[in-house]
Amino acid sequence: MSIQWFPGHMNTARREVAKTIASIDVIVEVLDARIPEASSNPMITELRRQCQRPCLKVLNKADLADPAVTQAWLNKYNQEPGVNAVALAGNRVGQAAKVPSLCQPLAKHRSTTMKPLRMLIMGIPNVGKSTLMNTLLKRRITKVGNEPAVTKKQQRHTLNDCMTLIDSPGLLWPKIKDPVVGFLLATIHAIGANAVVDEEIAEFLATTLLTRYPGLLTARYGFLEDGLDGAGVLESIAIKRGCLRKGKGGELDREKAAKILLKEYRNGTLGRTSLESPSTPEVPSV
Ligand code: GDP
Repeated sequence: MSIQWFPGHMNTARREVAKTIASIDVIVEVLDARIPEASSNPMITELRRQCQRPCLKVLNKADLADPAVTQAWLNKYNQEPGVNAVALAGNRVGQAAKVPSLCQPLAKHRSTTMKPLRMLIMGIPNVGKSTLMNTLLKRRITKVGNEPAVTKKQQRHTLNDCMTLIDSPGLLWPKIKDPVVGFLLATIHAIGANAVVDEEIAEFLATTLLTRYPGLLTARYGFLEDGLDGAGVLESIAIKRGCLRKGKGGELDREKAAKILLKEYRNGTLGRTSLESPSTPEVPSV
């Protein structure tokens, strides 16, 4: 699958963010805990190194990820110079509150009324940036939706007398070279529905789950996964859930089954999963 997904505002965002990074103290890079590497933007790493800014990597939506794998990611990231990493659910007040307190030690010269700590929230679309900001600020400041690239304009908010939060638009690199990364991003819904086909993404997800968490498929849909491939999983879901195409003489509706699998994966109904690990970042190719 080749994904060419590069809305015009992403170009503008890159220029804006480069300027903004020069005037902030800490980058808060929000990642999806289920795919921390695939959901990170190399551009952010490049810009923060250029400007020599420390970074707090937030493995967000940790409530949806496999805790053991998340811990392995934290161990890896916490070894990187200038980087702190934390796993949390940004929609929970107590957990989100860790963000400012973990940013403080990264810029010890700031956090006074004269010199407030300036934190720039960055990350690709749909990883939970707006939700995290809303939770931290205890008010609704940006549109939150489970669709990519909803947040568009940069905004600055006072968290308290000593801290400022700066919001940046969702960023994605111009061309995703590795098709597996493209599929992983589509699976968590960081790539728009018009760019990729649900059935293809669901088949990729099914193949990945067969390798990493076969028991979850059995537990949720009640079929034995033995000997099935990704397409077979979709067919089995279609049978179990009675997905039939109208007026097609009982033909299975694979697209409907695909939508069920994606929805139940994305909202966590299927269980807690991580689709890549630090030791084995590769997932089955398609
Ligand atoms: P943004 O595009 O990065 O600003 O992402 P949003 O804040 O709009 O969040 C995208 C979707 O993820 C929304 O449906 C949120 O409700 C959901 N979401 C955000 N944070 C979390 C979290 O920690 N856990 C779970 N389960 N869902 C979250």
